[in-house]
Amino acid sequence: DVVLETRDVKKFYKMGSVTVQALRGVDVSLKSGEFVSIIGPSGSGKSTLLNLLGCLDRPTEGSVLLDGTDVSKMGERQLTDMRCKKIGYVFQKFYLLPFLTALENVELQARLAGVKDSRRRAEEALRLVGLDGRMGHMPKEMSGGEQQRVAIARALVKAPKLLLADEPTGNLDTATGSEVMRTLKKLNEQGLTILMVTHNPELAAQTDRIIRVKDGLIDGSLN
Ligand code: ADP
Ligand code: ADP
Repeated sequence: DVVLETRDVKKFYKMGSVTVQALRGVDVSLKSGEFVSIIGPSGSGKSTLLNLLGCLDRPTEGSVLLDGTDVSKMGERQLTDMRCKKIGYVFQKFYLLPFLTALENVELQARLAGVKDSRRRAEEALRLVGLDGRMGHMPKEMSGGEQQRVAIARALVKAPKLLLADEPTGNLDTATGSEVMRTLKKLNEQGLTILMVTHNPELAAQTDRIIRVKDGLIDGSLN
């Protein structure tokens, strides 16, 4: 079963009289339970592709199917609704609210997503990322790796179809980055579908499959 799929996706950016074609016909498909990474040089179209796959933007041409629904022609409100329900996001920066504890950060997300029993679900999510003992800590009392794992728990708490991670270790040293990577791999082994953008070939090599983006196209998608 396919979680996410693009069909001949093209994206143009218009700046006055100049048009840039950032994606020139991309077909990617992500199956349930896969851990896939996207790599490619700067300017290749990775961010554009990620924005489309993450339902943060729409393609100029072609379609994007999330969990069987074509999102490429949806209006802003519908698109927002889809991504709230189906996708969890993790970024290079943690974006934790500094005045809330780890548990409160995750619980707030659960409430915003309309998750029932939000406190208990937040505790479960924090347990899944190995932070049982840190629930009452403030972000500033935690290491970078722990903060990123809180951010992962926050993404997980609404039980998304897909976890989208944009440079999740970009702000971390190698050892801490590996710790976050181990957490992602563990979650994937438990069935979570993950799509990760990274500049780090060593991390990409640890995933099931690498999608290489080059000049707005996919460049051989198997590793
Ligand atoms: P984004 O995908 O967030 O738009 P870019 O891919 O455009 O960022 O990267 C911006 C610049 O920073 C590029 O020159 C890129 O090579 C560099 N860069 C960003 N993150 C890393 C990283 N983790 N390791 C090495 N270079 C990086
Ligand atoms: P990457 O993430 O691999 O660095 P991007 O998707 O950011 O690549 O960019 C792909 C191409 O599209 C580049 O030529 C970039 O300059 C252009 N581009 C990206 N975003 C915009 C935008 N908002 N407006 C105009 N051009 C853009």
